[in-house]
Amino acid sequence: MIILQDFNLAELTQYLTEYGCQKFVGLQIYGWLSKGADFDQMTNVNKALREKLKENCIAQSVKIIHTATSKKDGTEKMLFQLHDGNLVEGVLMKYNYGNTLCVSTQVGCRMGCKFCASTLDGLVRNLSAGEILGQVVAVNALTKGVRNVTNVVLMGSGEPLDNYDNVVKFLHLLFDTNGLGFSQRNVSLSTCGLADKMKQFADEDFSVNMTLSLHSADTEKRTEIMPITKQWSIHQAVDALRYYFNKTKRRVIVEYTLIDGVNDNYSDALKLKQLLSGMSVHVNLIRLNAVKERKLLATDTDHAKKFLAWLEKMGMSATLRRQMGADIDGACGQLRRRYINEKGATNE
Ligand code: SAH
Repeated sequence: MIILQDFNLAELTQYLTEYGCQKFVGLQIYGWLSKGADFDQMTNVNKALREKLKENCIAQSVKIIHTATSKKDGTEKMLFQLHDGNLVEGVLMKYNYGNTLCVSTQVGCRMGCKFCASTLDGLVRNLSAGEILGQVVAVNALTKGVRNVTNVVLMGSGEPLDNYDNVVKFLHLLFDTNGLGFSQRNVSLSTCGLADKMKQFADEDFSVNMTLSLHSADTEKRTEIMPITKQWSIHQAVDALRYYFNKTKRRVIVEYTLIDGVNDNYSDALKLKQLLSGMSVHVNLIRLNAVKERKLLATDTDHAKKFLAWLEKMGMSATLRRQMGADIDGACGQLRRRYINEKGATNE
């Protein structure tokens, strides 16, 4: 099956020539696809053509099959079903400046971070560009355009830079003014530190924000919780982040998940300060969202505030973020896991 959302406008128009279509039909269908319409809703498109397309193509690449809303902060978590039955999840967070959707880039993940639920079964498969875009489109359609997504973060399941080509194509589609026309500055990409790909991404000349999931400035400790450190050292990852900043002049962020007794003592704060000294970088602290299958626990709130105070005293720019949607399996991969565990399989 062909996923029409994988095509940009030129590719779609070209594809439709196989069906004898004129150019304007491509533009019409492209518009419908970005509005979340299925073939039956494309009322200004010839019915016979729609029936033929149905035989070979998929209009909407993802379907929302479950949602949960946090009573605490209104964060909405959803499960997206892909055409082959695989599931990925997304989170919609409401801030006063807009609505941020966290999208997934892979089913599962092969990075093996010890605190993350997405990686427990390894990588199942990459998402195509249209499947990543489909998540944004589906959420806009769900909220009926009343609360359209204004910001996108690539922080759902998967490592975006491990699915490089599809992620780059997705961004081109997202920014396309014939489609959703997103502003590049409203998009953030988060990586566990694939240094070579971070540099390659810097050279794409996008203006998106880059986040490095660091979680420890100590090589031994980071290797323990993030095995990718054996492949790309802390210094290689931070150098790549610096390269990204110098090249794009976009804001760069270091993500630091506080894990009880693992990375939250004073010497950890000091090492972080030393590692990042001289860099224009903001540190986002977040308490671990404890994952049932893992033994790791969150740093308690008081201690997390103390860690923040240490960083501030050292002159660093840092914030302690709220745990959004912790009551609805907010952490990566948790909702999908619970759903699969309860239903017994992904393919139903
Ligand atoms: N692979 C990318 C993006 C996906 S994870 C990356 O590593 O950045 C998005 C962020 O959530 C990362 O910073 C990740 O380390 C963090 N994360 C994963 N599981 C978490 C958990 N249980 N609690 C808190 N943060 C978590």
